[in-house]
Amino acid sequence: MSFDRDALPSPEGYYETQGLQFLQRRGKWRTTACVFHGGSDSMRVNLQTGAFVCMAGCGASGGDVLAYHMALHGLDFAAAAKELGAWVEDGKPAPARPTPFPARDALAVLATESNLVAVAAANEAHGVALSRDELSRLLQAAGRIQKIAEMFA
Ligand SMILES: [Zn+2]
Repeated sequence: MSFDRDALPSPEGYYETQGLQFLQRRGKWRTTACVFHGGSDSMRVNLQTGAFVCMAGCGASGGDVLAYHMALHGLDFAAAAKELGAWVEDGKPAPARPTPFPARDALAVLATESNLVAVAAANEAHGVALSRDELSRLLQAAGRIQKIAEMFA
């Protein structure tokens, strides 16, 4: 038995069948609800790779729709691959682990959040005081950067 990655559903189609709605229509990374902890807009999903990460710190993350399916439904690798139609009976031994959250995707998140921090710092440096909302978004960005750092520690 083996896993056929090419047979996995497309990330966009898969996430939509799981009931997720994307809060914006453009870009590779989309914002949606985190069903793992109940956050309305804390999940980031990559529609090209299927990678996902919750920015609220609930720990949900993975590198593809298979990892999402396993986490959401409490399935092991083979069971999730079967449900998604990506399991081939070919007599070979089963692979052991799903794909972890890719470092390249983590860097993309870091780039976005660190840019936000830099803009906030530049505003302060030029005497533009941050509003309460901006300050809270800044703290959120710092939390996200910390979260990504912990994932790879
Ligand atoms: Zn979450």
